[in-house]
Amino acid sequence: MIRKGILFTLLITLFSRMLFSWGFHAHKRIIQMAIFTLPQEMILFYKSNMLQLEEASVQPDIRRYVMEEEGPRHYIDIDVYGDSAVFTFPREWSAAQEVYSRDTLLANGIIPWAIRWTKRELTTAFKQGNGAAILRYSADIGHYIADAHVPLHTTHNYNGQFTGQEGIHRLWETRIPEIESEDYTFWVGNATYIANSKARIWEVIESSHLKVDSVLQIEKQLSESFSEDRKYAYRKTGKTEKRDYTEAYAKAYASLLNGMVERQMQASVKLIGDFWFTCWVDAGQPDISHLKILSDRYLEKVQIKDSLRIPSQRSGLHN
Ligand SMILES: [Zn+2]
Repeated sequence: MIRKGILFTLLITLFSRMLFSWGFHAHKRIIQMAIFTLPQEMILFYKSNMLQLEEASVQPDIRRYVMEEEGPRHYIDIDVYGDSAVFTFPREWSAAQEVYSRDTLLANGIIPWAIRWTKRELTTAFKQGNGAAILRYSADIGHYIADAHVPLHTTHNYNGQFTGQEGIHRLWETRIPEIESEDYTFWVGNATYIANSKARIWEVIESSHLKVDSVLQIEKQLSESFSEDRKYAYRKTGKTEKRDYTEAYAKAYASLLNGMVERQMQASVKLIGDFWFTCWVDAGQPDISHLKILSDRYLEKVQIKDSLRIPSQRSGLHN
Protein backbone atom coordinates (compact mmCIF):
# COMPACT_ATOMS: atom_id res chain seq x y z
CA MET A 1 0.00 0.00 0.00
CA ILE A 2 2.69 2.43 1.01
CA ARG A 3 4.60 1.63 -2.15
CA LYS A 4 1.55 2.32 -4.26
CA GLY A 5 1.10 5.64 -2.51
CA ILE A 6 4.69 6.64 -3.19
CA LEU A 7 4.43 5.55 -6.80
CA PHE A 8 1.26 7.54 -7.23
CA THR A 9 2.84 10.68 -5.75
CA LEU A 10 5.87 10.16 -7.93
CA LEU A 11 3.77 9.81 -11.05
CA ILE A 12 1.75 12.89 -10.24
CA THR A 13 4.95 14.89 -9.63
CA LEU A 14 6.48 13.55 -12.80
CA PHE A 15 3.48 14.17 -15.00
CA SER A 16 2.65 17.57 -13.63
CA ARG A 17 6.24 18.63 -14.21
CA MET A 18 6.11 17.25 -17.74
CA LEU A 19 3.47 19.70 -18.74
CA PHE A 20 5.79 22.64 -18.36
CA SER A 21 7.67 24.18 -21.19
CA TRP A 22 7.24 27.11 -23.55
CA GLY A 23 4.02 26.32 -25.40
CA PHE A 24 4.46 24.51 -28.71
CA HIS A 25 3.57 27.70 -30.49
CA ALA A 26 6.39 29.64 -28.80
CA HIS A 27 8.97 26.89 -29.37
CA LYS A 28 8.15 26.78 -33.07
CA ARG A 29 8.29 30.54 -33.41
CA ILE A 30 11.64 30.76 -31.60
CA ILE A 31 13.28 28.08 -33.73
CA GLN A 32 11.89 29.57 -36.93
CA MET A 33 13.26 33.02 -36.13
CA ALA A 34 16.67 31.63 -35.18
CA ILE A 35 17.11 30.53 -38.81
CA PHE A 36 17.27 34.17 -39.88
CA THR A 37 20.37 34.82 -37.77
CA LEU A 38 22.41 32.38 -39.86
CA PRO A 39 25.05 33.23 -42.46
CA GLN A 40 24.49 32.55 -46.15
CA GLU A 41 26.39 29.26 -46.10
CA MET A 42 23.96 27.82 -43.57
CA ILE A 43 20.63 29.49 -44.14
CA LEU A 44 19.55 27.64 -47.28
CA PHE A 45 19.57 24.21 -45.67
CA TYR A 46 17.76 25.46 -42.57
CA LYS A 47 15.21 27.45 -44.50
CA SER A 48 14.33 24.60 -46.81
CA ASN A 49 13.77 22.40 -43.78
CA MET A 50 11.94 25.02 -41.74
CA LEU A 51 8.75 23.02 -41.22
CA GLN A 52 10.60 19.88 -40.23
CA LEU A 53 12.71 21.91 -37.83
CA GLU A 54 9.65 23.50 -36.25
CA GLU A 55 8.03 20.11 -35.72
CA ALA A 56 11.25 18.68 -34.36
CA SER A 57 11.59 21.60 -31.93
CA VAL A 58 8.66 20.35 -29.85
CA GLN A 59 9.74 16.70 -29.89
CA PRO A 60 11.83 16.98 -26.70
CA ASP A 61 8.61 17.77 -24.79
CA ILE A 62 6.83 14.85 -26.45
CA ARG A 63 9.75 12.54 -25.62
CA ARG A 64 9.35 13.43 -21.93
CA TYR A 65 6.22 11.31 -21.82
CA VAL A 66 7.94 8.19 -23.04
CA MET A 67 11.53 8.53 -21.92
CA GLU A 68 12.44 9.00 -18.32
CA GLU A 69 15.87 10.42 -19.12
CA GLU A 70 14.41 13.26 -21.19
CA GLY A 71 12.65 15.08 -18.33
CA PRO A 72 15.66 16.48 -16.41
CA ARG A 73 17.12 18.05 -19.56
CA HIS A 74 14.55 20.83 -19.53
CA TYR A 75 15.27 22.54 -16.21
CA ILE A 76 17.52 22.95 -13.20
CA ASP A 77 16.10 23.58 -9.73
CA ILE A 78 19.24 25.42 -8.78
CA ASP A 79 17.83 26.85 -5.53
CA VAL A 80 17.57 23.34 -4.10
CA TYR A 81 21.34 23.55 -3.65
CA GLY A 82 21.20 26.79 -1.62
CA ASP A 83 20.36 30.47 -2.00
CA SER A 84 23.34 31.58 -4.05
CA ALA A 85 24.03 28.20 -5.64
CA VAL A 86 23.47 29.62 -9.11
CA PHE A 87 26.80 31.48 -8.77
CA THR A 88 28.77 28.79 -6.99
CA PHE A 89 27.52 25.54 -8.45
CA PRO A 90 30.22 23.43 -10.16
CA ARG A 91 29.97 24.22 -13.86
CA GLU A 92 31.46 20.92 -15.05
CA TRP A 93 29.42 17.73 -14.96
CA SER A 94 32.37 15.78 -13.58
CA ALA A 95 32.98 18.38 -10.84
CA ALA A 96 29.27 18.48 -9.96
CA GLN A 97 29.31 14.70 -9.64
CA GLU A 98 32.14 14.87 -7.16
CA VAL A 99 29.93 16.91 -4.84
CA TYR A 100 26.48 15.49 -5.58
CA SER A 101 25.35 12.07 -6.63
CA ARG A 102 24.28 11.50 -10.19
CA ASP A 103 20.77 10.74 -8.92
CA THR A 104 20.59 14.07 -7.10
CA LEU A 105 21.75 15.94 -10.19
CA LEU A 106 19.23 14.14 -12.36
CA ALA A 107 16.42 14.67 -9.86
CA ASN A 108 16.98 18.43 -9.85
CA GLY A 109 17.48 18.89 -13.55
CA ILE A 110 20.50 19.02 -15.85
CA ILE A 111 19.68 21.63 -18.47
CA PRO A 112 23.13 23.32 -18.57
CA TRP A 113 24.81 20.03 -19.44
CA ALA A 114 22.06 18.88 -21.77
CA ILE A 115 22.83 21.95 -23.89
CA ARG A 116 26.55 21.18 -23.94
CA TRP A 117 26.10 17.50 -24.75
CA THR A 118 23.71 18.38 -27.55
CA LYS A 119 26.25 20.90 -28.83
CA ARG A 120 28.77 18.09 -29.09
CA GLU A 121 26.28 15.94 -31.04
CA LEU A 122 25.42 18.79 -33.38
CA THR A 123 29.09 19.49 -34.11
CA THR A 124 29.58 15.81 -34.95
CA ALA A 125 26.51 15.87 -37.21
CA PHE A 126 28.01 18.81 -39.14
CA LYS A 127 31.36 17.02 -39.44
CA GLN A 128 29.60 13.94 -40.81
CA GLY A 129 27.40 15.94 -43.17
CA ASN A 130 24.38 14.11 -41.75
CA GLY A 131 21.37 16.27 -42.61
CA ALA A 132 18.84 14.42 -40.45
CA ALA A 133 21.13 14.57 -37.43
CA ILE A 134 21.87 18.26 -38.04
CA LEU A 135 18.15 19.00 -37.92
CA ARG A 136 17.49 16.74 -34.98
CA TYR A 137 20.21 18.23 -32.78
CA SER A 138 19.57 21.79 -34.00
CA ALA A 139 15.99 21.33 -32.84
CA ASP A 140 16.97 19.72 -29.54
CA ILE A 141 19.54 22.34 -28.62
CA GLY A 142 17.08 25.05 -29.66
CA HIS A 143 14.49 23.57 -27.34
CA TYR A 144 16.82 23.36 -24.34
CA ILE A 145 18.22 26.86 -24.92
CA ALA A 146 14.70 28.29 -25.09
CA ASP A 147 13.72 26.46 -21.88
CA ALA A 148 16.81 27.83 -20.13
CA HIS A 149 15.47 31.36 -20.76
CA VAL A 150 12.32 30.68 -18.74
CA PRO A 151 12.98 31.86 -15.17
CA LEU A 152 10.64 29.24 -13.72
CA HIS A 153 12.79 26.50 -15.28
CA THR A 154 15.50 27.37 -12.76
CA THR A 155 13.60 26.99 -9.50
CA HIS A 156 12.10 24.34 -7.29
CA ASN A 157 9.00 26.56 -7.03
CA TYR A 158 8.49 26.14 -10.77
CA ASN A 159 4.72 26.45 -10.73
CA GLY A 160 4.34 28.73 -7.73
CA GLN A 161 3.22 25.63 -5.82
CA PHE A 162 5.00 26.77 -2.65
CA THR A 163 3.67 30.32 -2.78
CA GLY A 164 0.00 29.74 -3.62
CA GLN A 165 0.45 30.64 -7.29
CA GLU A 166 -0.27 27.35 -9.02
CA GLY A 167 -0.63 27.91 -12.74
CA ILE A 168 1.89 30.74 -13.03
CA HIS A 169 4.20 28.58 -15.14
CA ARG A 170 1.68 28.25 -17.94
CA LEU A 171 0.65 31.87 -17.59
CA TRP A 172 4.20 33.14 -18.13
CA GLU A 173 5.46 30.84 -20.83
CA THR A 174 2.36 29.78 -22.76
CA ARG A 175 -0.57 32.14 -22.18
CA ILE A 176 1.38 35.39 -22.62
CA PRO A 177 3.20 34.29 -25.82
CA GLU A 178 -0.09 32.95 -27.24
CA ILE A 179 -1.68 36.34 -26.84
CA GLU A 180 1.24 38.63 -27.59
CA SER A 181 4.01 36.98 -29.55
CA GLU A 182 2.60 37.84 -32.97
CA ASP A 183 3.45 41.44 -32.14
CA TYR A 184 6.96 40.71 -30.88
CA THR A 185 9.93 41.62 -33.00
CA PHE A 186 12.59 39.01 -33.51
CA TRP A 187 15.23 40.84 -35.42
CA VAL A 188 18.17 40.04 -33.16
CA GLY A 189 21.09 40.42 -35.56
CA ASN A 190 23.49 37.88 -36.97
CA ALA A 191 24.66 34.75 -35.22
CA THR A 192 28.08 35.14 -33.64
CA TYR A 193 30.68 32.63 -32.49
CA ILE A 194 30.65 31.61 -28.83
CA ALA A 195 34.18 31.24 -27.54
CA ASN A 196 33.22 29.82 -24.17
CA SER A 197 29.96 27.93 -24.38
CA LYS A 198 30.05 26.68 -20.81
CA ALA A 199 30.29 30.21 -19.41
CA ARG A 200 27.64 31.46 -21.81
CA ILE A 201 25.12 28.79 -20.78
CA TRP A 202 25.63 29.48 -17.10
CA GLU A 203 25.21 33.23 -17.71
CA VAL A 204 21.78 32.41 -19.10
CA ILE A 205 20.91 30.24 -16.09
CA GLU A 206 22.07 33.02 -13.73
CA SER A 207 20.13 35.67 -15.58
CA SER A 208 16.97 33.53 -15.71
CA HIS A 209 17.25 32.63 -12.06
CA LEU A 210 17.67 36.28 -11.02
CA LYS A 211 14.26 36.96 -12.57
CA VAL A 212 12.43 34.35 -10.50
CA ASP A 213 11.60 36.72 -7.62
CA SER A 214 10.07 39.35 -9.92
CA VAL A 215 8.13 36.73 -11.87
CA LEU A 216 6.54 35.50 -8.64
CA GLN A 217 6.17 38.78 -6.75
CA ILE A 218 4.61 40.70 -9.60
CA GLU A 219 1.99 38.02 -10.16
CA LYS A 220 1.23 37.85 -6.45
CA GLN A 221 0.59 41.59 -6.30
CA LEU A 222 -1.47 41.56 -9.46
CA SER A 223 -3.67 38.72 -8.25
CA GLU A 224 -4.66 40.85 -5.25
CA SER A 225 -6.20 43.45 -7.53
CA PHE A 226 -8.13 40.94 -9.66
CA SER A 227 -11.26 39.15 -8.48
CA GLU A 228 -11.44 35.43 -9.27
CA ASP A 229 -13.98 35.93 -12.06
CA ARG A 230 -11.79 38.52 -13.78
CA LYS A 231 -8.71 36.39 -13.34
CA TYR A 232 -10.07 33.08 -14.67
CA ALA A 233 -12.55 32.08 -17.32
CA TYR A 234 -13.50 28.90 -19.16
CA ARG A 235 -11.92 28.76 -22.57
CA LYS A 236 -12.51 26.38 -25.41
CA THR A 237 -9.42 24.65 -26.74
CA GLY A 238 -10.29 22.05 -29.35
CA LYS A 239 -13.21 20.04 -28.06
CA THR A 240 -12.67 20.70 -24.39
CA GLU A 241 -13.36 23.67 -22.22
CA LYS A 242 -10.73 24.51 -19.66
CA ARG A 243 -10.39 27.01 -16.89
CA ASP A 244 -7.65 29.39 -17.86
CA TYR A 245 -6.34 32.86 -17.12
CA THR A 246 -8.35 35.57 -18.85
CA GLU A 247 -6.74 37.57 -21.60
CA ALA A 248 -7.12 40.70 -19.46
CA TYR A 249 -5.18 39.09 -16.63
CA ALA A 250 -2.41 37.74 -18.89
CA LYS A 251 -2.06 41.14 -20.54
CA ALA A 252 -1.94 42.97 -17.22
CA TYR A 253 0.77 40.58 -16.01
CA ALA A 254 2.77 40.93 -19.23
CA SER A 255 2.60 44.69 -18.97
CA LEU A 256 3.85 44.67 -15.36
CA LEU A 257 6.67 42.34 -16.44
CA ASN A 258 7.63 45.17 -18.77
CA GLY A 259 8.51 43.13 -21.85
CA MET A 260 10.32 40.33 -20.01
CA VAL A 261 8.67 37.52 -21.97
CA GLU A 262 9.49 39.17 -25.29
CA ARG A 263 13.09 39.82 -24.24
CA GLN A 264 13.56 36.23 -23.10
CA MET A 265 12.17 34.95 -26.41
CA GLN A 266 14.47 37.29 -28.33
CA ALA A 267 17.48 36.20 -26.28
CA SER A 268 16.56 32.56 -26.99
CA VAL A 269 16.44 33.23 -30.74
CA LYS A 270 19.84 34.90 -30.70
CA LEU A 271 21.55 32.26 -28.59
CA ILE A 272 20.14 29.38 -30.63
CA GLY A 273 21.55 30.98 -33.79
CA ASP A 274 24.88 31.50 -31.99
CA PHE A 275 25.07 27.84 -30.96
CA TRP A 276 24.16 26.50 -34.41
CA PHE A 277 26.76 28.78 -35.97
CA THR A 278 29.41 27.83 -33.38
CA CYS A 279 28.89 24.10 -33.96
CA TRP A 280 29.19 24.62 -37.71
CA VAL A 281 32.40 26.65 -37.32
CA ASP A 282 33.86 24.08 -34.90
CA ALA A 283 33.09 21.38 -37.45
CA GLY A 284 35.23 23.22 -39.99
CA GLN A 285 32.48 25.16 -41.78
CA PRO A 286 31.36 22.26 -43.98
CA ASP A 287 29.38 22.89 -47.13
CA ILE A 288 25.82 21.94 -46.20
CA SER A 289 24.11 23.53 -49.18
CA HIS A 290 24.06 20.21 -51.07
CA LEU A 291 22.32 18.33 -48.24
CA LYS A 292 18.90 17.41 -49.37
CA ILE A 293 15.63 18.58 -47.99
CA LEU A 294 14.26 15.97 -45.68
CA SER A 295 10.85 14.45 -46.03
CA ASP A 296 8.32 14.72 -43.24
CA ARG A 297 8.88 11.05 -42.54
CA TYR A 298 12.30 11.77 -41.11
CA LEU A 299 10.56 12.84 -37.91
CA GLU A 300 9.11 9.39 -37.41
CA LYS A 301 12.60 8.06 -37.32
CA VAL A 302 14.02 10.55 -34.85
CA GLN A 303 11.24 11.37 -32.46
CA ILE A 304 11.55 8.44 -30.09
CA LYS A 305 15.13 7.46 -30.71
CA ASP A 306 17.45 9.00 -28.20
CA SER A 307 21.16 9.18 -28.53
CA LEU A 308 22.24 11.84 -26.06
CA ARG A 309 24.81 10.19 -23.91
CA ILE A 310 25.34 11.30 -20.33
CA PRO A 311 29.05 10.99 -19.62
CA SER A 312 30.11 8.62 -16.89
CA GLN A 313 31.65 10.14 -13.77
CA ARG A 314 35.26 10.18 -14.89
CA SER A 315 34.99 10.74 -18.58
CA GLY A 316 36.55 14.04 -19.49
CA LEU A 317 34.02 16.01 -21.47
CA HIS A 318 35.19 19.51 -20.92
CA ASN A 319 34.25 21.25 -24.12
ZN1 LIG B 1 10.89 21.74 -22.62
